[in-house]
Amino acid sequence: RLEVRGLSRAFEGVKAVEGAGFHVEPGEIVALVGPSGCGKSTTLRMIAGLETQDEGQISLGGERIEHLAPERRAIGIVFQDYALFPHLTVLRNVAFALADLRRGEREGAALPYLKMVELEDLAGRYPDQLSGGQQQRVALARAFAGRPRLILLDEPFSNLDASLRHATRREVRALLKKSGIGAVLVTHDQEEALSFADRVSVMRAGRIEQTGEPSDLYSRPKNAFVASFLGRTN
Ligand code: ATP
Ligand code: MG
Repeated sequence: RLEVRGLSRAFEGVKAVEGAGFHVEPGEIVALVGPSGCGKSTTLRMIAGLETQDEGQISLGGERIEHLAPERRAIGIVFQDYALFPHLTVLRNVAFALADLRRGEREGAALPYLKMVELEDLAGRYPDQLSGGQQQRVALARAFAGRPRLILLDEPFSNLDASLRHATRREVRALLKKSGIGAVLVTHDQEEALSFADRVSVMRAGRIEQTGEPSDLYSRPKNAFVASFLGRTN
């Protein structure tokens, strides 16, 4: 279980995230949705340990993790700006997440994760020989291969064309549900949030305005911002 409380971060005196709090139950998918610049990525980066928080607590499985280095948090991340290693093949990129295994065993153990995203045929290619969507799927395979306690996804489907986006979304959701790993999905696409997540947190200007199940948010939005952001017109 992930629990985030009172998370805040300012850049040069301007508050990017202010008192954000939410939780993710084991196996649950929570979407963080809101307009561009509202603080979604900064929130996720703090949970991953890629950005330091000014204030706030982050616990995972009952343990406080905000002081731990990113690689010690057992969190899998798929971020647009957290790219694959260009000098490693697809298979070795995924095998990199299996550093706890012996060297000779890593690539064999990585292959099932590539199969999971249907890229085993491209195992020997380098990232710059893949499309954006294929790179994204390798990043997903790498995230799962690390057997994380939590997976963080920042706009993971945005590079995919519409039909691949829908198919990949469905697959990733099924994989997450099968694995029982909890996940936070950041997106500015309300339709994606409502269809992908078990619960949705709506963010505006660094604050979480409302969290709830998609149907609750849709039928009982707390204010006009949540209503209009989720596509209700009145
Ligand atoms: P988008 O949907 O466009 O990705 P976002 O909700 O992910 O937006 P963030 O990237 O978290 O937004 O940014 C929140 C605010 O913090 C923005 O105003 C942004 O300009 C600012 N910000 C983020 N990172 C930095 C940084 N390293 N230095 C200065 N300002 C930053
Ligand atoms: Mg962002």
